[in-house]
Amino acid sequence: MRRFGRYEVGEELGRGAMATVHQGYDPQIRRTLAIKILHDDYACDPEYRQRFLTEARAAGTLTHPGIVTVFDVGEAEGRPFIAMELVEGQTLDAYAEQFRPLLLRNFLKVAQQLAEALDYAHRHGVIHRDIKPENILVTSATVNIKVMDFGIAETLFDPEWRAEDHTASAGTPHYMAPELIRGGDADGRSDLWSMGVVLYELLTGHRPFLDGEAGRVLERVLEEPVPEPRPIIRDCPEDLVAVVRRLLERDPSRRYQSAAELLVDLQRIEDERAERERA
Ligand code: ADP
Ligand code: MG
Repeated sequence: MRRFGRYEVGEELGRGAMATVHQGYDPQIRRTLAIKILHDDYACDPEYRQRFLTEARAAGTLTHPGIVTVFDVGEAEGRPFIAMELVEGQTLDAYAEQFRPLLLRNFLKVAQQLAEALDYAHRHGVIHRDIKPENILVTSATVNIKVMDFGIAETLFDPEWRAEDHTASAGTPHYMAPELIRGGDADGRSDLWSMGVVLYELLTGHRPFLDGEAGRVLERVLEEPVPEPRPIIRDCPEDLVAVVRRLLERDPSRRYQSAAELLVDLQRIEDERAERERA
């Protein structure tokens, strides 16, 4: 551990495009935590500094078991940082690779928890805008998930938040909703599209839009029909395939209109699964 402002930082836990997350410690209150530090090349870039503030404020207004809790935001040694809850677990992409194909029960648990976290965030006016497996942590023993990385989230009730400050960094091509690619406004339904891409991958073992150069992926999302999901999960109910298809409706008005609506269907499918297990 080395000193970093009022904290201590140690082992690296993971890294994304803009920051590295380390294990950390707050000696004053003796709490172990995670510290996200902006990469050096971005430390002076106002857009990335803004992203850190956005992330801290968006997550800061939310208190939910499915969302990583943020404790603090600031700067030490000239580098912006965020101090947050330490999550023991792995990212959803690593988890999916290790346990592919998922058991139906675990797939549903992940889907329900993600829908609950989004329902909570959306009801509090926060649209995540970057839902993807690398931004979801899973504890493998209990299969509990936590959503993190609110770096480009939109806080609908925040008068200081302006969409034009954020358009340069609008998500990850594979998971980005068609209406956002077209430059439209985000609402809860765009997170539901991204969740649809995540569930499609877990269900079939591959992404719905083939890999390739970023520009091509965006075109595919806009133009190509979503290939019929072929589940690799055992005993996958047809209803569940229909849920994923409905999340991936290109026209937002044909998609689930809210995470709460999605939760109703997921709960019914889980009840039927549990019923079959008992029989
Ligand atoms: P970026 O904004 O650069 O994408 P992220 O916030 O997504 O950075 O974090 C990068 C990686 O660090 C994640 O994919 C994950 O592996 C790890 N990580 C992030 N936050 C935590 C946390 N609170 N606890 C444990 N690991 C974390
Ligand atoms: Mg990330």
